[in-house]
Amino acid sequence: MPATAPKPKHAAPKVADQKMFIGGKFVESVSGKTFDTINPSTSEVICRVAEGDKVDIDIAVKSARKAFESGPWGRMSGTDRSRLLNKLADAVESHKDELAALESLDNGKPIVDALDADLPLSIQCYRYYAGWADKITGQTIPINGNYFCYTRHEPVGVVGQIIPWNFPLLMQAWKWGPALACGNTVVLKPAEQTPLTALRVALLAQEVGFPDGVINVVPGYGPTAGAALAGHMDVDKVAFTGETTTGKIVMTAAAQSNLKRVSLELGGKSPNVVFADADLDAAVEGAYFGLFFNQGQCCCAGSRLFVQEKVYDEFVQKMVAKAKGRKVGDPFDPTTQQGPQVSQEQFDRVMGYIEAGREDGAQMLLGGNRVGDRGYFIAPTVFADVRDEMTIAREEIFGPVMSILKFKDVDEVIERGNRTFYGLAAAVWTKDIAKALRMANSLRAGTVWVNCFDVFDAAAPFGGFKMSGIGRELGQYALQLYTEVKTVTVAT
Ligand code: ADP
Repeated sequence: MPATAPKPKHAAPKVADQKMFIGGKFVESVSGKTFDTINPSTSEVICRVAEGDKVDIDIAVKSARKAFESGPWGRMSGTDRSRLLNKLADAVESHKDELAALESLDNGKPIVDALDADLPLSIQCYRYYAGWADKITGQTIPINGNYFCYTRHEPVGVVGQIIPWNFPLLMQAWKWGPALACGNTVVLKPAEQTPLTALRVALLAQEVGFPDGVINVVPGYGPTAGAALAGHMDVDKVAFTGETTTGKIVMTAAAQSNLKRVSLELGGKSPNVVFADADLDAAVEGAYFGLFFNQGQCCCAGSRLFVQEKVYDEFVQKMVAKAKGRKVGDPFDPTTQQGPQVSQEQFDRVMGYIEAGREDGAQMLLGGNRVGDRGYFIAPTVFADVRDEMTIAREEIFGPVMSILKFKDVDEVIERGNRTFYGLAAAVWTKDIAKALRMANSLRAGTVWVNCFDVFDAAAPFGGFKMSGIGRELGQYALQLYTEVKTVTVAT
C-alpha cells in the first residue's frame, strides 16, 4: 500500500479585509483608513482592518447610548438577557474550531492551547454570566423611622472596554459576560495586534439576536481610538486590561473627562515560591507551565521563581531539562507547544530583557536566541542565580524568560516576594499546610495558587493588589464593576 501523508488537522484560515461593527452593521471607518493585522509566525499581512479613531468611537458610543436608553435592551428581562448570553455561548462553542484557528493565526498561540484553554474558558464565562443575568438583586434595608428602604442594582450604562492581545477571545468574554448580564451596552476596542476574533464574535452575537447597538467593536490604535473611548464624555465606565503605564493613562483620561467608573487589570511580577518540602516534580511542572504558557505572555506569569536553597540545584537542573524539550514552531502543528511572540515590538522587547539579564550577570542556562529566520519566535530561556535588584527580576518581561532566585526561609521569601509594586498573583509549593496558609495570607496579591498555577474559572475572581489593578473581574465580584447601587426610600 502506498504511504499517504497524514492530513494536517488544522490550517491557517484565509481572512477577508475587516470592517468595524457599529449599531448592528459592519461599516468602514469614517476616514476610510485601515491598518494591517500581521501573522506573527511569518510577519506577513493577514488582512486589512478598518481603523477606528475619535469620530468612529463617537458614533459607536451614540449607538450604544441609543440602545441603552431607547431600544428593546433596556426593557428586556434578566431572563431574556440570560437566554441571549447562553445562545452566544452556544454559538461560540459551535464555531470553536474556526475561532481557535483565527485566534492562533492573529496571535500566534498554538491552536491546541486555543482549543484547550481560550475557547472553553470563554464559553464557560458567557454561560456563567448568563446564569447571573436574572439574579442581580438589591436589598431591603430596615432603616430608622417609618420608611421602606431598598436598593436596586442598575446597569452603569454605556461601557467602554479596552482589551489586550494575549487572550483576545477570553478578555472579550471577561468583559462582555458581566457587562451584558447586568444590562449595560458596550463599545469594545480590541488590541491593534489581534482584532479578528472580537469582530467574529460580534457577528455571532448579532446572529443570536443581541439588539443593534448593544455591542459595538471598534478596532484601532490605543492613543487614538482607545484614548477617545477612555476620555469620552458619554461613556459611563471604562474597563481596561493591559500594561500598568497604559492603565494610568486610561485612569487619567477618565478623571479628566467625566469621572467615569474605572476598572483596571494590569501587569504583574508574580512570585512563585518552591519550598524544599514540595513535591519537586509537580513544582517543576507547575512553574514551567506558569511561566512558559502562552509564550510567557500572561500578566500573572510566575516570573520570579523563588526556590529554597536546599533543593535549588536539583530544581534548576530538572527545569532546564524540561524546558529544553519544549517544542517551538508552527502554531497550527498540533505538537507545537510554543508559538511566536505576538509582534516585532514584543520580540524586540523580550530580546532586550534577555540582554539585560546577561549584562546584570544572571546565569543563562538555556535559550536566549531567536528561533528560525522569520516570524517572532524566541527559544525558551532560563536564567539562574537571578538577584532581586536585576532588571529581569523587577520588570514584567511578557516572554518565555524564566528567572530563578534562591531563598533561605519563610520570612525572607515573604518579604522579598512582596517587594514589588505589583500584586496580581502568587503561588506556593509545599506539603506543609500551615506554611501554605501562612504564605497565602502574607503574599499581597489578588490570587494565590497553592500547589497549582494558572487555575482559572469564571466563578473565581481575578485582579490585582497595588499597581496590578483596581477591581475584580470574574465571579460575583465582577457584577459590582457593572452595576450602580441606587437607594430608594419610601415614606410609609
Ligand atoms: P501592550 O504593551 O501589551 O500592547 P497596552 O497596555 O499598550 O499593552 O495595550 C492594551 C490595550 O490598551 C490595547 O488595546 C491598546 O491599543 C490600548 N491602549 C494603548 N494605549 C492606550 C491609550 N493611551 N489609551 C487607551 N488605550 C490604549
